[in-house]
Amino acid sequence: MTLARNLNRGVGVLPVFLGLVALILLVGFAASFRRWEGQAPSVRFDREFKSLGRTPGLSLQVEDAGNGLNKVTVLLKQKDQRVSLVDESYPGPSLFTFWRTGQQKATTIDLGRLIAEKYKVQDGPASLAITASDHSWRVFFGGNKSQQQRDFVFDIYPPRLEVLSSQHYINQGGSECVVYRVSPDAEVSGVQAGPNFFPGYPTGSDPNLRFSLFALAYNIPGKSLLRVVARDGAGNEAVAGFWNKVFPKRFRSREIALDDGFLQKVVPEVMSHSPNVKDQGDLIKTFLEINSKLRKANHDQIRELTPKSAPRFLWDRAFLQLSNSQVESLFADHRTYVYQGKEVDRQDHVGFDLSVTQQYPIEAANDGVVLLADYFGIYGNTVLIDHGCGLISLYGHLSSIGVQVGQQVKKKEVVGRSGATGLAGGDHLHFGLFLHGVPVNPTEWWDGKWIKEHVLDRLGDDALSSKGS
Ligand SMILES: [Zn+2]
Repeated sequence: MTLARNLNRGVGVLPVFLGLVALILLVGFAASFRRWEGQAPSVRFDREFKSLGRTPGLSLQVEDAGNGLNKVTVLLKQKDQRVSLVDESYPGPSLFTFWRTGQQKATTIDLGRLIAEKYKVQDGPASLAITASDHSWRVFFGGNKSQQQRDFVFDIYPPRLEVLSSQHYINQGGSECVVYRVSPDAEVSGVQAGPNFFPGYPTGSDPNLRFSLFALAYNIPGKSLLRVVARDGAGNEAVAGFWNKVFPKRFRSREIALDDGFLQKVVPEVMSHSPNVKDQGDLIKTFLEINSKLRKANHDQIRELTPKSAPRFLWDRAFLQLSNSQVESLFADHRTYVYQGKEVDRQDHVGFDLSVTQQYPIEAANDGVVLLADYFGIYGNTVLIDHGCGLISLYGHLSSIGVQVGQQVKKKEVVGRSGATGLAGGDHLHFGLFLHGVPVNPTEWWDGKWIKEHVLDRLGDDALSSKGS
C-alpha cells in the first residue's frame, strides 16, 4: 500500500514538472507574441518629386505601429559623395520587459532642412537611400526592415525671367498689366502685389510670353512690394522688379445709420438663405454677424470660384456702367455703422451702388460666362459673370435673376432686375469687380481709354489671340 502510494507520487512529479515548463513557455510565448510580428516600418514622402532645389520643402514620415521604430537612416548620394542626413536609433524594451514594444511608433523628418544644412547642393542627378527597422524579434532578432531608394535631380537654377512692359502707372485700389517672358521650366509665374498673387497667362505666338493683370488692393499700403515671380518644380524662384508709379488714394468715409425697420427687413431674410449664420437672439447682434462674417465668407467664396475663370479674355473693350444710373456709393467707401447713437461696426464697401428705377433691367457689363446665379449672402439675389483671366463682375440685390450658371452672356444682355434683396435698404444695383478675388475699382474698366493704354496696347497684336476664338 505504502509502496504503491510512493510509486504513484514518483510517477506524478515528472508530468507536473513538464506541464509547468510547458505552461511557462506558453505564457512566455503569449506574453512576447507581439514581438514576433512581421510588418516592416512604412516610409512615406509628403509629396512626389522628380527635382529638388537648394532648400527644398520635403519631409519624410516613418512609422511602425507594431513594435516601434528601432533605427532610421537616410543617406544622400551624389556623384562620389555620400552624406548621412539621418542616423537615429530609438530605444526598445529591455530583456526583463520583453513583453513590451518600442515607444517610438512614428517620426517625421524635415529632409529639406537637413539637405540645406548638411550638404552643398550641386546641379545634377542624386538619390536618397532610406532604411528603417523595428523592434520585432523576426530575422534572428534583427527586426523587420524597409529599404527605399529615390532617384531625382538637384536643380539649383531658377527660371529665366524678363519684364517686357514699362511705365506702369497704378492707382491704389486699381488694376494694371505686366508683360514678361519666362523660360519653359517655370511652373508658376505672375505678379506678387503685397500679400496677393496674380497668375500670368500665355499671350501671343511666343509660348514663353505671359501677361498678368494685377491689382494694388485698396486696403494694403501704397508702398507694398510689387514684383514678378516665377517658380520651377524644384521650388527655385526668380524675381524681377518693374518700373512703376503708384498713386495713393484716400477713400471716402460714410456713416450708415441702422434702425429697427431696416434690421427687421434684412436680418430674417438673409438668415433664411444663409444656414451658417447663427441667430444671436437679437436683431442687431445677428446683423453684426452677417455684416462681418457673412460678408467675409461671400468674398472668400468669390476667390474660391476664381480658378474656374477662363484662361483667356472673354470681354471686348470697355465695361458698361449701368445706363442712366445715379451713383449712390463709391468703391472702397469706409463705412461706420451707427445704431442707437453708438458706433457698432466698420466695413468697406467694395463696389458701386447704382440706382435707376425699381426693378430696372440689369445688363451684363461685358461678354462673359455666368459663374453664379443665386442668393449670395449680403448681396441677396446675385449674378457673378466670369470675363476670363481671373476678372469677375458681381451684380447684387437683384429682385429677380434671369440667367443660369454656365450661360454665355453678351455685353448689355439683361441678367436680372434690380431690387433690394440682401443688405439693401432700397432698390439699387451693387456692382463689383474682382481680380483673382481682390476687389478692384470698376471706374478704370468702365474707361475704354484706360483699357486700351494699360491692357490692349501692352499686349499689341497679341491682345486678339488672348481673347481666343
Ligand atoms: Zn453696395
